[in-house]
Amino acid sequence: MRAVRMTAPGVLEQVEVPTPTAGPGEVLLRVGAVGACHSDLHILDAPAGLFPTPITLGHEIAGTVDGVGAGVAGWSPGDRAAVYGIIGCGHCRACLRGLENQCRVVPVGGIGLSRDGGLAEHVVVPASRLLHVGDMDLTQAAPLTDAGLTPYHAVELARERLRPGTTCVVIGIGGLGHMAVQILTATTAVRIVAVDTSVAALDLASRLGAHEVVQAGPDTVEKLRATLGPPPDGADVVLDFVGAQPTLDTARQVIATGGQVLLVGLAGGTLPVRPVADEPPPLPLETSVQVPFWGTRAELQEVIALARGGQLHADVQTFPLEQAPEAYEALRRGDIHGRAVIVP
Ligand code: NAD
Ligand code: ZN
Ligand code: ZN
Repeated sequence: MRAVRMTAPGVLEQVEVPTPTAGPGEVLLRVGAVGACHSDLHILDAPAGLFPTPITLGHEIAGTVDGVGAGVAGWSPGDRAAVYGIIGCGHCRACLRGLENQCRVVPVGGIGLSRDGGLAEHVVVPASRLLHVGDMDLTQAAPLTDAGLTPYHAVELARERLRPGTTCVVIGIGGLGHMAVQILTATTAVRIVAVDTSVAALDLASRLGAHEVVQAGPDTVEKLRATLGPPPDGADVVLDFVGAQPTLDTARQVIATGGQVLLVGLAGGTLPVRPVADEPPPLPLETSVQVPFWGTRAELQEVIALARGGQLHADVQTFPLEQAPEAYEALRRGDIHGRAVIVP
């Protein structure tokens, strides 16, 4: 079969590999769609040794069951499924509570992270990773598993502060951020302020329910303070889907006293909790900072329910498998709006 693999650090190429077979407890899926996540770019850019090579990337997968291994119950050929990407150890305190995204065995296993993923015609996954999606379009189902699940989990973590009338600043309206705006719209009554460098991303945010948009630049903090009010007022919650130094500096300077910053993006910035000397200013008192990771299987089921109910819709740009490297280059340039989805 055809697969797009990271054959060496930083090298993504299409190769021919044997079609895998499902072992005990596993399912062979025919991949229907796989989302191109910005994390794949971080994986490609990571130093040698952090991720195994060669590996088929792609951790945002939906497909159709093609074969089942020994001992698998509840799944038959033809069933359509979304794939929960984390493979926790199953035994630690977190896994036992269903919080595989907090598994104590690190690094936690993942499809397309520690074993072959979905950028291929077929992928083998543990049957326990599958959730039914019914007759949903698979190019819609795939983005739910990460671009939908990760912001949904972050919103769940902030739920206590996301009261009617509060304000949530969403930074980075890409694959994850455009789903975050819809999740906030569907599940809260907060005022949503979207921030992005790209005008096209801000247009998408407005169409999806953001109440205000701010184009990021040298004056982001001033523009946000003008709409949120100066400190100690500000954003009750900041969801940062970039995580670069400029966005973390923005988050720190616009969060309200007692607010909550959720740092989802992995762009490598730092967020000082206490200032070194007087620069930068400290986080306001009572501020919480969290570093969410992906989500739980139960939350993915809720995300699928939101989508099946018509309240969550990925804005997708599709590419055939052979154009996956071009899709990632476009993502790197900032030329993808919503989610790039590869259809093998
Ligand atoms: P994306 O490329 O689709 O979207 C990023 C968006 O941020 C784009 O719209 C871009 O224009 C905007 N942006 C870039 N720099 C900006 C800046 N300085 N100010 C404002 N906006 C800016 O990426 P994605 O797939 O949505 O992923 C977002 C981040 O989240 C990545 O770092 C990814 O690795 C990370 N991620 C984390 C988790 C987790 O569990 N913590 C899960 C998935 C993805
Ligand atoms: Zn991802
Ligand atoms: Zn565990």
